[in-house]
Amino acid sequence: MGHQFDTKSVHVTMKRTEGIPAKVTPIHQTSAFTFKNLQDIENFFTGDRDYLYTRTGNPNTDELGRAVAQLESAPDGIATSSGLSAIMVGILSVAKAGDHVLASTDLYGGTYELLANELTDFGIEVSFIPFEQDIESHMKDNTVLLYTESITNPLLRVEDLDRVAQVAKKHQLKLMIDNTFATPYLVQPYDKGANLVVHSATKYLGGHSDITAGALSGDEELIEVARKKCVNLGANLSPFEAWLTVRGLKTLSVRMERHVKNAEQLAQAMSKHPGVDKVYYPTYVSEKGNGAIVTIDITGKADEEIFFESLDWIKIVATLAGVETTVSYPIGTSHRALPKETQDELGITKGLVRISVGIEDVSDIIQTMEKALDKAQK
Ligand SMILES: *Cc1c(COP(=O)(O)O)cnc(C)c1O
Repeated sequence: MGHQFDTKSVHVTMKRTEGIPAKVTPIHQTSAFTFKNLQDIENFFTGDRDYLYTRTGNPNTDELGRAVAQLESAPDGIATSSGLSAIMVGILSVAKAGDHVLASTDLYGGTYELLANELTDFGIEVSFIPFEQDIESHMKDNTVLLYTESITNPLLRVEDLDRVAQVAKKHQLKLMIDNTFATPYLVQPYDKGANLVVHSATKYLGGHSDITAGALSGDEELIEVARKKCVNLGANLSPFEAWLTVRGLKTLSVRMERHVKNAEQLAQAMSKHPGVDKVYYPTYVSEKGNGAIVTIDITGKADEEIFFESLDWIKIVATLAGVETTVSYPIGTSHRALPKETQDELGITKGLVRISVGIEDVSDIIQTMEKALDKAQK
C-alpha cells in the first residue's frame, strides 16, 4: 500500500478473511460491512447480499439466533442483547397498545418488572394469574398473549405446556414460553404448541457465566416482526458475545447431562438433612431428567446468615447455570421487587436458597452443602 504512515497504520490491519477455511466461524467484530459499489448497496436491499450494519444483522448473531431455533425445533430465531430484551421484543411482536397479556404469577423477577412497570407504560395491559388454576376465566376480549415459563423460578413449578397450549389454541391467542431453566435439552415448547420460545442465553445456553445474551425462536411471521423490533429498539447482541454463546451451545448436552445427574443426587441428600424444611425439585420434566436447579427452604430449621457464610468454595451470586455450583438468595435479589404479599403467596421466604448445581464431582457438592447446613442448624 503506497500510502503515508498515518493512512497505512489505519488500513494495514484490514486483512480479508475470505477464502480462509476456518473450522469455526470467525468473530465478525465489526460495526458495519463494506460495499463494492452502488449496485452492491441495492443488492443488500433486494436481498441479494447480506449485511449492512451490525445493529441490523451480523454473521455471529445470526448464527446464534438460527442455532437456538434449530435446537428448539422452531423455523426461525434471533439473538438479542439479553434475556430481558428477547422477552421485550417477543412480547412487542404480538402485543401493542390496548392489547392484554395474561402472564403467570411466578415469573422471573426481571420479567415481572418488565411486564408490570415498562410494558404497561407502552399501553399494554397485563394481568398476573396462577397458571396452574383456571386461565380462561381471566381472559378478556383484548387478550392476545399467554406468557409463562416451562420451569418457574425459584420454586420450580413445571408448567403443563400441553394444557396451556390447548387454551391458547382454543381462543386463538399466541403462547410465549421462557425455556431458560429447562433448555431445549429437556423441553421443546415449540413442539408443544408455543408460538415464541425465549431464553436468557446468559444461563445454560452460554453456560460459563461470561456473557449476557438472549434468544428468541418461533413462528416465521412472528420472528420476522421481532427481527425488525430488535433492530429498531437497538436490542442487538454484540458479535463477540454471540460467538461465545455459540461456543457454549456446542457442549449444552454434555453439560446438561451432568448438571441434571448432580442435581438429582443433591436434591435427595437435601431432603434427608435435618436443617432443611423443604426441598423444591421437579418430579417430572422429561425422560432426560428434571433440571439442574434445586431450591431449599431452611427458614424454620437453620440460620440463613450462617449458612451463606459457611459455603466454602460455593459462591453466592444473583444468577445461575454456570458450570460451577452457586447459590442465590431470591428474596434479596431476583424476587426483591415483588410485592410482599406476592412473595408470601409464592413462598419466597427469608430462608429460601436457590442452588444452581454445577458439573463438579457430586460428592464435593453434597459434602459442602451438608457442612454449611450442619453449622447453621438451629
Ligand atoms: C435470567 C433470566 C431472565 C433474564 O435474562 P437476562 O439475560 O438477565 O436479561 C429471564 N428469565 C429467566 C427464567 C431467567 O433466569
